[in-house]
Amino acid sequence: MISLQGINKYFHDHHVLKEISLTLPRGSVTALIGPSGSGKSTLLRCVNLLEIPQSGQMQLDQEQLVFGQKPPRTRDIMKISRQTGMVFQNFSLFPHKTVLENITEGLLIVHRMPKAEAIARAEQLLEKVGLAHKRNVLPATLSGGQQQRVAIARALAPSPKVLLCDEPTSALDPELAAEVVAVLRQLADEGTTMLMATHDLRLAASVANQTIFLEAGEIVETGDSATLFHSPQKARTAKYIATLT
Ligand code: ATP
Ligand code: MG
Repeated sequence: MISLQGINKYFHDHHVLKEISLTLPRGSVTALIGPSGSGKSTLLRCVNLLEIPQSGQMQLDQEQLVFGQKPPRTRDIMKISRQTGMVFQNFSLFPHKTVLENITEGLLIVHRMPKAEAIARAEQLLEKVGLAHKRNVLPATLSGGQQQRVAIARALAPSPKVLLCDEPTSALDPELAAEVVAVLRQLADEGTTMLMATHDLRLAASVANQTIFLEAGEIVETGDSATLFHSPQKARTAKYIATLT
């Protein structure tokens, strides 16, 4: 289980995340929706500690981090960040490495996994995302949907406790986005804990069991996805949802 309590993040004097508290139970899928600039990406980056909040607490199973005037020790940050995986809007694969090498790279270098084991793990994940036959090609020869599926396989390779996705379908045509949604839905069915920022109503409604609506750095409303999309409690949530397609 992952929880955030009272997280505040500032960029200089810009208060970007305000008293954010949320819980991601093991096996749950949470969608983070909200207007551009509301703080979705920043929140994801705080969960994987690419950004360090100025105050609040974070818990990942037994490990706890308290943010304050003194930033947490690098070693403690690494211990948690290594247990998260991130998928970005623009895939960010290594262009000069093959599909298989894209997945094994982090396992070999960051996680110091023996080579044969890393290759076996990569092959298993490529199988899962339906791309075993593409293991030896370069990313540029793949469609956007295929590249994003490789990025998902790469993020999952070290068996993270949470998969963070920042608008995983927004760079894709609807047909390719559908492939990615199908993979994410399969992962959800298998019990992968996920937090994903998205403007894609279909992704949020069909994969996430919980949805959080963020506006100007504040959580306006949290609820199970079906309820939040069909009968939101707050007028601000309803107004935003009406803008999604
Ligand atoms: P979008 O839907 O456009 O991706 P978002 O909800 O992901 O938006 P964020 O990228 O988290 O929003 O940005 C929240 C606010 O924080 C914005 O006002 C942004 O300009 C600001 N911001 C984000 N990163 C930084 C940074 N590194 N330095 C300064 N300001 C930043
Ligand atoms: Mg963003």
